[in-house]
Amino acid sequence: MAATPAGLDLSFPLRLREADFIIVGAGAAGAVLAARLSADPHVSVLLLEAGGKARGPLFSVPLMTGVLLRSTIANWSYVTEPEAELGARRIRWPRGKGLGGSTAINGMVYRRGLPSDFDGWAQAGLPGWDWTSVQPSFLRSENNPDGDPRWHGRGGPLRVSRRKLGHPLFGAFLAAASAAGHPRTEDFNGPAPEGAGPYDFTIAAGRRASTARAFLDPAEGRPNLTVITRALVTRIAMEHGRAIGVMLADRGRERLVRAGREVILCGGTVNSPQTLMLSGIGPAEQLRRHGVAVVTDLPGVGRNLQDHLLIRVMHATNAPDTIDRLRRIDRAALAALQAWLFGTGPAASFPIEVGGLFRSQPDLDLPDLQASFMPGLSSATIRLPFAGMSRQTFSRCVQRAGAKSHWLRPIQGRRPAFSLATCQPCLTASSCGRA
Ligand SMILES: Cc1cc2nc3c(=O)[nH]c(=O)nc-3n(C[C@H](O)[C@H](O)[C@H](O)COP(=O)(O)OP(=O)(O)OC[C@H]3O[C@@H](n4cnc5c(N)ncnc54)[C@H](O)[C@@H]3O)c2cc1C
Repeated sequence: MAATPAGLDLSFPLRLREADFIIVGAGAAGAVLAARLSADPHVSVLLLEAGGKARGPLFSVPLMTGVLLRSTIANWSYVTEPEAELGARRIRWPRGKGLGGSTAINGMVYRRGLPSDFDGWAQAGLPGWDWTSVQPSFLRSENNPDGDPRWHGRGGPLRVSRRKLGHPLFGAFLAAASAAGHPRTEDFNGPAPEGAGPYDFTIAAGRRASTARAFLDPAEGRPNLTVITRALVTRIAMEHGRAIGVMLADRGRERLVRAGREVILCGGTVNSPQTLMLSGIGPAEQLRRHGVAVVTDLPGVGRNLQDHLLIRVMHATNAPDTIDRLRRIDRAALAALQAWLFGTGPAASFPIEVGGLFRSQPDLDLPDLQASFMPGLSSATIRLPFAGMSRQTFSRCVQRAGAKSHWLRPIQGRRPAFSLATCQPCLTASSCGRA
């Protein structure tokens, strides 16, 4: 038996001491991996999630996304350090926390990325990530009976659907895009994704299809899969430079759970590099500065973040009816109830049903902007009590490599991932070469 790593307290009883595979984080990646790995009854899988179960109407009614983005219920609710390039503003940075991870709070738009994105990653040194290699996995996971079977899967666990455009202003947006000379696309995941068109959503029968619902629910009851919520992994337990398990926060202490075969980090964009750094894997000089013992000097950890900023552009409209009619508490409650009980009505879809991929310069080879349209004010502008306003918003986000940024110098989480003294400064300083 391997020696106990220094500094661990193993004196209190352990409910679960070991699993073949330990997966940290039950979000998009973790839920899928847990389901796939535990399909083999000969291996044991332990899925550890810092958040809760993320169940109930808030997490199933699609329109509630606007609430979830701003709440701290299942959200790490990060805020960046002041961004010099953005007028020194701090940017709110929601990240899902609970079964399903960010898929429990996200916008549910099902758009895979352009094949060239994947090919670019493969060329940059990620073998197996080229489009030809990954496309079968997309098709296998998807269940989209209405999609063209050359580009969409049927019978997979992840339900993908499209709504008949629920509002006349969606048609107006598409007509305006055509009038401006942009092509029309019928399928952002099809062979010609450029231009304006309708989105597909990970919505099943009017309810959010998070990865927890799509992948974990069907695996529930497998004796070889254990899912533990409210389980915060504080770091990877290392021995002689090798991962032997993870340390869990347990009533103010840390407890070790061993991995017979692998520790798989699925904590997301922010938390996975954080966990690595807290485990001594990252830029050595930076780790030392924050008192973390260096296990492996890996300068790339915590750098080269690419994110897409969203810019909201609002227009007044003379249309008699926008989704802002739901800004009356009685109407909102009725719509939410209808969506929850029957999966129908205005709250059963995400109100950004159309968008487009556009080129910012005509001489570009590929689109570099994504725009999405909503016939109403976005949740970022909602203030209670709801006011009877009539507006439409047009959100535009930078999409591709041009959006490459330094690590956004996070993080001021309202709920820090772990109250280790090293956590916050470590992440803050992990920002970028300029830090
Ligand atoms: C507001 C928002 C809107 C979005 N809209 C869309 C959209 O419309 N379409 C789309 O395709 N994508 C969208 N995304 C992106 C998409 O949801 C993410 O790309 C995807 O969920 C990332 O998957 P992941 O597994 O890497 O991380 P996540 O899904 O974020 O999962 C990480 C999980 O790990 C857990 N975790 C982290 N640290 C620890 C720890 N130390 N111990 C235990 N557990 C831990 C977290 O609590 C979380 O549950 C959106 C994301 C956000 C935040």
